[in-house]
Order: sequence, then C-alpha cells, then structure tokens
Amino acid sequence: MQPGGFGAMKQQAIAEGDRKQRIAVVADFDDTLTTQNVAHLLLKRFAPDALERFSTQYRSGQITFREYQELAFNSVDAPVEQMQQVAADEVELRLGLNDLLQALDDIEGELTIASAGLDLYIEPVLECHGLANLNVVCGSAVRNGSDSGEFSYDYPFADVDVPCRGDWATCKCKALEQAGESATTVFVGDGSTSDACAAENADYVFARDRLLRICEESGIDATPFEDFRPVTEFVAALGREPMRLTEPK
Ligand SMILES: [Mg+2]
Ligand SMILES: [Zn+2]
Repeated sequence: MQPGGFGAMKQQAIAEGDRKQRIAVVADFDDTLTTQNVAHLLLKRFAPDALERFSTQYRSGQITFREYQELAFNSVDAPVEQMQQVAADEVELRLGLNDLLQALDDIEGELTIASAGLDLYIEPVLECHGLANLNVVCGSAVRNGSDSGEFSYDYPFADVDVPCRGDWATCKCKALEQAGESATTVFVGDGSTSDACAAENADYVFARDRLLRICEESGIDATPFEDFRPVTEFVAALGREPMRLTEPK
C-alpha cells in the first residue's frame, strides 16, 4: 500500500529538505489494541446485573457513557486485583503490534493509546505484555477503601473544553491534538462514539467494525484493518517520505 494511493486524501509536498515526516499513531484500546472489549469482559464476570442495567440505560440515552462506566464498575464487589488478574491472564493483543512498535521506533514515530476506559484494566494488560512504557491516555479509577467500595474517577483528557459530541470520559480528539502536534496523525479504532469523533480529526484512519461503517457512511477515508500489519506497512512507507503537508479533511 502506498500513502499516495489513499483515495481523496490529497497531499501536497513542501520543500523541507531531507526532513522526514514525524508520525503519531493514536490507537483505541478495547477491541482495537486488544482482540476483545476488556471492560465488558470484566463487568460480565464481576457485575453482570449492573452491566445489563446500566448498558441498557446508556443505549437508550438515559445516561452518558461516562456515567454508565462509573456506575457499572462501582457495582463490582470483588477486589481490584482480582479483576486485574483476569485482564492480565485472558486478554490478547491484536496481531502485529510489536512490528508496528518496531516500525515506529525506526522512524522515531510514536504510539499513543487513547481509551474512554480505565487504567485499572488497561495497565495490567499492557504490563503483562511488556508494554508498560506505552503512552496511555485514559480515565483513572481509584477505589475508596474496602474491596467493595466505590471508585474515585479522574479524567485528565475529559472533553469539557472542546466541542466534542458526547460525554465519553476521554476525548480522543484532544489526545490526537497533543500527540500530533507538528506530526502526521494516524488514528486506529473500532468504535462509534469517541472513535468516530477522532477519525474526523486524524490525517489517516484505520477502522474496523462500527467505526468502519460510520466512516463509510459519512465519507471519511478509512482503511479497513483486522490486525496491525496494514498499519505497520503504511507507517513504514509514510515514514520514508519527505515531509508533506496534509490537506485538512
Ligand atoms: Mg474500542
Ligand atoms: Zn472528539
């Protein structure tokens, strides 16, 4: 795949000498970096009734995503360590991630994980795969006291001061903006809410599942992916190119 072959995404070369593109990849976590939705896995295991109740309320628009997630995790009365053990033991990463990291390393690019989910389950997954050093933007949950208490939640990348379209706990547009300062941005995701918003703001998009359908419906250029190999090929090719200016979509 050649970067120049990306449909209507026109690029305009500018004279930047031998300077290569700086590339920032921002990838969603649940169902993108991993092969399943880890939050669902844990809530199904540790708070199935709450998952059912609050996800119904979320889908019918009664509560926001952030409220759904907080209420559901507050209903877990198992120790956090038990959830983290399940996340570490059972969650697999999507094929090709290590090659992508290597390719980014070769061109001094970077990967940021941007998730509307929570550090309590993201960190153990990354740690057990030797990826504790990855740059992660997500919500944080700290339990108040006992093993069944509620959590205190904090969202360093909340979408309060940007015109994003929903209360998604973490604004991936903000993550893109920060990671992509003076860089070409590549967004990788699968979801229909915060991912769709970020896809509009990235220079290049790799999408699967709901995000792919949304991109097709709304005319956002997106390349389908089921593992990280096409992303790696693309990034490696882009990284060899001289500096370019990407026309805003
Ligand atoms: Mg996802
Ligand atoms: Zn957004």
